Amino acid sequence: MLIVGGGLAGLACAIRLHDAGAKPTIFEASDAVGGRVRTDLVDGFLLDRGFQVYLDAYPEAGNLLDKTSLDLRPFKPGALVYQGGRMLRVMDVFRTPRHLVTSALAPIGSFADKLRVALLKWRLSGVSIQDIATHEDMSTELYLQRAGFSTRMIDVFFRSFYGGIFLERELRTSSRMFEFTFKMFSQGSATLPACGMGEIPRQLNMRLPCGTVRLGAQVTDIHSHGVTLKSGETIAGDAVVVATDASSAALLLPKMNLPEPAWRSVTCLYFAAARSPLNEAIIALNGTGSGLVNNVCVPSDLASDYAPPGQSLISVSVLGIPNLTDMQSLVLKELESWFGSEVQEWRHLRTEQIKRALPEQAPGLRNSGAGFRKHAGILVCGDHLWSASIEGAIISGQRTANAILHSS
Ligand SMILES: Cc1cc2nc3c(=O)[nH]c(=O)nc-3n(C[C@H](O)[C@H](O)[C@H](O)COP(=O)(O)OP(=O)(O)OC[C@H]3O[C@@H](n4cnc5c(N)ncnc54)[C@H](O)[C@@H]3O)c2cc1C
Repeated sequence: MLIVGGGLAGLACAIRLHDAGAKPTIFEASDAVGGRVRTDLVDGFLLDRGFQVYLDAYPEAGNLLDKTSLDLRPFKPGALVYQGGRMLRVMDVFRTPRHLVTSALAPIGSFADKLRVALLKWRLSGVSIQDIATHEDMSTELYLQRAGFSTRMIDVFFRSFYGGIFLERELRTSSRMFEFTFKMFSQGSATLPACGMGEIPRQLNMRLPCGTVRLGAQVTDIHSHGVTLKSGETIAGDAVVVATDASSAALLLPKMNLPEPAWRSVTCLYFAAARSPLNEAIIALNGTGSGLVNNVCVPSDLASDYAPPGQSLISVSVLGIPNLTDMQSLVLKELESWFGSEVQEWRHLRTEQIKRALPEQAPGLRNSGAGFRKHAGILVCGDHLWSASIEGAIISGQRTANAILHSS
């Protein structure tokens, strides 16, 4: 069984096939598994390829992963919001009751908004993820308006918090995706593995026998009983799974008419500092409605391995890929108003520009419902066929493996 792509979908598919006694082979074009979830060691710092978090309430990913050995480090539930020249604390008061007063008094949204958050949390706790897929779909912005949230709450909090998740501040993303992530945030924590997000695919890869993954093996042609590599080598197999990102799948399988998605992009700037500007495991958001920065966090405040001893790693996310030659200095100048002049002492480590970070998830976008697509004996899976998330990629990969096992 041949799997094209060693991201989370391809790995999850291969594990299920292997556990059922099959012998899958993964062909991965790059130099390591993980796809969009990778971590690089640079100068003693662990740099995730773009800021992302593992939500520990993900049900299927949670069943597949050994969460204990990932040593997940949670962010505090809530956020700091930079607004009006101040850092305001907005916490999930049901999980951190000691912040009840500061959060209730924070001038972000009215008291009624805070009650609406509680109501939404309660309402979504009573529905399953499968139910969410049947709910009326609309833009997240319209959904929040219909739920009665004030314009201020939407503009100052939701645009920056969900901007960092959906990688767009207009909140055009499907309300079903909003309900899914809101439910996951309510039921668990946003976390980072102690040794970086790349530990997730690394752990999955360890569950496969040696030789299952062929790295540097770009597939250029696919037919129902085999693949051809860029090197010219042709390999035959009794099933072919395409577990690449949506655009690569569309290119490899022109006859399948797979939709080429619009992509959400993000730029992540990493800095080293002598001390953490936050000094706690929390995400800081830009609630000003202007500027380049969307969110900031300090991964080394959660897990010390992210930075060498005595140093802090700062992660700054800018939505999109702005065409600016002096972005680094513009970002630092902006953050000087957040954190003071110490920002000028920060050392730039790396800027990651991720053009294809998330496929757009517009309202009404129909996936197959099965989590995969099949055409002329070839199966296609990946986050674009379930939800653009770690959970979505894993579910899609597993369902594809189930389909192969049930048909053989
Ligand atoms: C910056 C960023 C932030 C994110 N934030 C979060 C978050 O906070 N929480 C969350 O749950 N999710 C988040 N995500 C989404 C999540 O990472 C993805 O949905 C998921 O990793 C997609 O996995 P996949 O296996 O479907 O695809 P991919 O990870 O894209 O894997 C596809 C693989 O196929 C390989 N490939 C492509 N073409 C070929 C070919 N021709 N031959 C061989 N190999 C090929 C690629 O090299 C790649 O390894 C984020 C993603 C990014 C980039």
